Amino acid sequence: MTETTTPTNFIRQIVIADQASGKHAGIVQTRFPPEPNGYLHLGHAKSICLNFGIARDFGGTCNLRFDDTNPAREDIEYVEAIREDVRWLGFEWAEQRHASDYFEVFYRCGIKLIKDGKAFVCDLDADEVREYRGTLTEPGRNSPFRERSVAENLDLFQRMRAGEFADGARTLRAKIDMASGNINMRDPAIFRIRKTSHQNTGDAWPIYPMYDYAHCISDAVEGITHSLCTLEFEDHRPLYDWCLDQIDLPANPQLAESIIAAGLSYTPRRPQQIEFARGNLDYTVMSKRKLMALVQDRLVDGWDDPRMPTLTGARRRGFPAAAIRLFWERAGISKQNSVIEYGVLEGCVREVLDGTAPRRMAVINPLKLTLLNLPTDHAETLNFPNHPKNDVFGRRGVRFSPELWIERDDFLEEPVKGFHRLMPGTEVRLRGAGIIRCEEVIKDAAGQIIELRCSIDADSRPGCAGAERKVKGTIHWVDARTAIAAEVRLYDRLFNVADPDDDSDGKTYRDHLNQESRRVIHAWLEADLAEASAESTWQFERLGYFVADRHDHTSAQPVFNRVVTLRDNWTKAAGQ
Ligand code: ATP
Ligand code: MG
Repeated sequence: MTETTTPTNFIRQIVIADQASGKHAGIVQTRFPPEPNGYLHLGHAKSICLNFGIARDFGGTCNLRFDDTNPAREDIEYVEAIREDVRWLGFEWAEQRHASDYFEVFYRCGIKLIKDGKAFVCDLDADEVREYRGTLTEPGRNSPFRERSVAENLDLFQRMRAGEFADGARTLRAKIDMASGNINMRDPAIFRIRKTSHQNTGDAWPIYPMYDYAHCISDAVEGITHSLCTLEFEDHRPLYDWCLDQIDLPANPQLAESIIAAGLSYTPRRPQQIEFARGNLDYTVMSKRKLMALVQDRLVDGWDDPRMPTLTGARRRGFPAAAIRLFWERAGISKQNSVIEYGVLEGCVREVLDGTAPRRMAVINPLKLTLLNLPTDHAETLNFPNHPKNDVFGRRGVRFSPELWIERDDFLEEPVKGFHRLMPGTEVRLRGAGIIRCEEVIKDAAGQIIELRCSIDADSRPGCAGAERKVKGTIHWVDARTAIAAEVRLYDRLFNVADPDDDSDGKTYRDHLNQESRRVIHAWLEADLAEASAESTWQFERLGYFVADRHDHTSAQPVFNRVVTLRDNWTKAAGQ
């Protein structure tokens, strides 16, 4: 399955049917509407891929809309980060908008509702509103302020807007039905008083619209045809539709004069809200609130810590954007909530990197190996392919001398059945360099092995008659005389249980942090990796995929992060 054959889903079917019937003259307009109160995470990527993907595939466009109607929690830092993440994921918006661009429209719509007898100013406080609301089994009661005259409502609403009343003193409520079986329809608040500075509009507005009211109007203003949101908004759809029915933006252009005056394009439409299931991953948490707490309490090294499920974290970890797109494409879109295994995401990362990452050799747990039967000043350059399956990657020279580093794990002093690498007296192939035999094991005073002395079978060298001779194991190595030292950060999953959100046993996600999720070691690398550009990804043969750290890597002090191991170690561990 490739990206050009995006599988269909029920939302795509709706779009196809709408285009066939000529609804909205065949136009498809979507939006991705993040609240700028944190960094985007992998779950958001599902919504981004869906909204931008549908626009792309059906000849439409997608807007980036900052849903900034809650001034207390929002910050410009997040706006910038969200823009960067969406672009990194591979998408470009037609227009960037802010819900706050429409504050005047929301206000005028409120006035229209009042004039039409569809909204009233209510003086009940939060506790009283709750009391009047009723329950799932009992109808609510009408607010004592519900029958205020239009004139009184207009006066009070205008004074709310002028900043005359304290936070929480009054709300503007839609007048719908306190006996509705759907609690969202029981005269919901549509404006509240909040004297807080807003990141976009400053102190211009002491009143702010509520989410349901602002979202449907924003969609209509932008001419959105298909407003895609997650399942928890299903019960809000009647309110979404009610507001649009009452306000009818396309028929009331005077409501939107401020938009045209601001030079923003304006083609209002009647959008349709369609809900789909959130994307969930195991072994992680994906609520901005919890991710924020991890950052603030320094349980991770910031929003872009390579273990974080944020997009900026995934990027620093070395997950290619293409792998994240592939992952959500495979996961599909449905109305069924489910949790996808983290291993499936890692599988997509491996699949993409297998095709794109050049190969190098690196030793992360070094043991010195000396070849006895080469002249001590022997130096040569071997010729290696950069990719075993793709010649386009070209070839490179790999330095070779009698002093090498190999992985400590590739040697065992005491023979064990089934171990096919190096043991005293046995043979192994040095990748691309010939077959060696371990002749002598050198230890320090404490009994630690510090060096292996080996002989190399000259006839087994590349190009020689015995080059094809079979031995059971092949190990990687680097030339100790030319290798560069690097810091290597070995990352693993941030949580060590599948469902860190499960607090039924009294533990919280904080109790399930994987203490082994970050290990820093010093490694020896092929010399040309010093010149790797930041964010370039490599396969270190037999070890995994690694990325030159976006922020810390320099040629003088190379730093690589492990993106993912070559094989899935977790499924194996879980099965044991
Ligand atoms: P969080 O609960 O993490 O704070 P949110 O839904 O409040 O997420 P928003 O900024 O409002 O965050 O989300 C922007 C868009 O991304 C919304 O349309 C939302 O439905 C969608 N979205 C958020 N999380 C997911 C997810 N896990 N899967 C799919 N879509 C998501
Ligand atoms: Mg939200």
